[in-house]
Amino acid sequence: MSTIETIEEMLKKGKIEAAKPKKIFITDLTARDGIQCKLATRVKTDDLIPLCEKMDKAGLYAFEMWGGATYDVCLRYLKEDPWERLRRIKEVMPKTKLQMLFRGQSIVGYRPRADKVVYKFVEKALKNGITVFRVFDSLNDNRNIEVACKAVKELGGECHAEISYTKSPVHTYEKWMQYADELIEIAPDWLSFKDATGIMMPLDTYNIIKSIKDKVGDKIKVLLHNHDMSGTAIMNHMMAIYAGVDMLDTVLSPLAFGSSHPATESVVAALQGTPYDTGIDIKVLEEAAAIMSGIKKNYKKYETEYGGVNAKVLIHKIPGGMISNMVAQLKEANASDRIEEVLKETPIVEKDLGYPPLLTPSSQIVGVQAVLNVISGERYKIITKEVRDYVSGKYGMPPGTVSKELVTKILGPDQKPDYGKKPSESADANEWDNAVKEVGILSKSDEDILLYVLFPMQGMEFLKARESGDLVSDVIAGAEEMIETQPGVMENAAPVEFDITYHGDKFSVKVEGVSPSQQQGKPRKYYVRVQGKLEEVQLYSKVEAAVGAGNYSQCRPGTQLTSQRNVAQEGDATAPIAGRVAKILAKEGDKVEKGQTIAVVEAMKMENEIHAPISGTVKAIYVKVGDNIIPADALLRIEP
Ligand code: MN
Repeated sequence: MSTIETIEEMLKKGKIEAAKPKKIFITDLTARDGIQCKLATRVKTDDLIPLCEKMDKAGLYAFEMWGGATYDVCLRYLKEDPWERLRRIKEVMPKTKLQMLFRGQSIVGYRPRADKVVYKFVEKALKNGITVFRVFDSLNDNRNIEVACKAVKELGGECHAEISYTKSPVHTYEKWMQYADELIEIAPDWLSFKDATGIMMPLDTYNIIKSIKDKVGDKIKVLLHNHDMSGTAIMNHMMAIYAGVDMLDTVLSPLAFGSSHPATESVVAALQGTPYDTGIDIKVLEEAAAIMSGIKKNYKKYETEYGGVNAKVLIHKIPGGMISNMVAQLKEANASDRIEEVLKETPIVEKDLGYPPLLTPSSQIVGVQAVLNVISGERYKIITKEVRDYVSGKYGMPPGTVSKELVTKILGPDQKPDYGKKPSESADANEWDNAVKEVGILSKSDEDILLYVLFPMQGMEFLKARESGDLVSDVIAGAEEMIETQPGVMENAAPVEFDITYHGDKFSVKVEGVSPSQQQGKPRKYYVRVQGKLEEVQLYSKVEAAVGAGNYSQCRPGTQLTSQRNVAQEGDATAPIAGRVAKILAKEGDKVEKGQTIAVVEAMKMENEIHAPISGTVKAIYVKVGDNIIPADALLRIEP
């Protein structure tokens, strides 16, 4: 560090420079980052409305309530229109600016889009109630945020351009300053410095924020967004204030700290009556926090194990949400015990890919590949489509150098990736017009088209279900009511709390809840507490029995799932990890070559190509687009 006097140097002299008194602005993120970190984004709009109504009275700078995960979960699990959520929240928050998190050229999705789609999205987001757009690119390749920032400024929104922090040999102080210079060129309204993982330390925070403030002067305001995974976030806040930061991001106490952010109430209280007073009404915050506590109780089953402070993050650098995803994948591959191996593998993949910060979509790209490396038993035996695209430059320029071996493996010997091309150029320039044709009469508005363009499979399912009146949420708030009795008292009662002995080990089990009815083709969800830890179990019923004294009679369940599942044999194409069938690229009778891509399975939001294991003829196709599959399932049968 050469250009500024660091806080370490100031400390040696016994004199620290502190920013002049000023009001510190607060943006509350409870309804987006808070529920994303602590409740897997599974909260319904109906439940959020009273909270939003209350928060409108607090005096916040802005309220973040929308982003990629919100959009995705609304479609995928809640079966809600994310645009409707936005309109309803704006209706009850007329005084407060609403904010969204925007993944640069990828918008709210997982890969770069054509400029026309970016413009359409910004236009509609503004019209439906968003004011503040926080725009970032997970690689800090700022070519990916130019178009979105331009659109926001042209169309009348407020643009916050973001730098994403990580720790790596290539992420030096000079690199952060280079990124800041690039963003100043874009001329956003605010510059945001973000640590999405929670690994930044207080003195670094001071040095970086102070240097950025010195650079931008009064031209651009500066804010800090930092997660608390290693437990230092609130110290970072204080150091950022001394360094001259203008705004801090916080979350209401019921969802604060750990994988999330410092509590809004704590930060407001800490600064109250000081030269940095936020001017926020702490009474209103307390009332809002009580509402949030009530909501949290109803979504207890979605609380993740990785929500608290975990200083191990300083070693593996993996955000909490990403660990939960990897655990879920391993469970479905019957490899739950291998999480430690995956946590060790992740930094290796991250290094091989040139140290991308672990944010969407690079976190998924790295995470899925690390899981595959572990469960396939060989590093890069299977390479996802996304890693191939990443290495060929379709996501942008990696911060560091991609491993030579990996480049050779993907592009061939003596080939070099071309990072000169802008990622948006690899997007289909006609994707908007094509989507309009493909959605046809199912679409009632441009917002509907945007559902489909960004999430083709989930968007189409949503629009079809809405048309036929079949929108049913996968998320069940609150526990199902159960009448509990002593064993043996009531006839036809099944045990819900019991001990089991398995291979000599005793486990205490309690069934906490169950989804109400089994829909065709969908598993029934049981919420089971094993040794005190709540787990979600998905159950496909094959045979059901009426409980009675002595003997019982069997019957088939209402679904046809058993006939659809085919256990894979030699020569069958299978998926390496559990997911959903996104594409089938062969027909019965087709001749295929060994290694040819014959299907695409979406897992952990990434597309995984399925290759023919042998050359031959496709004899049977056992799955269709949209089916949930596990590694044991046969997808296609090929005979030589
Ligand atoms: Mn965040």
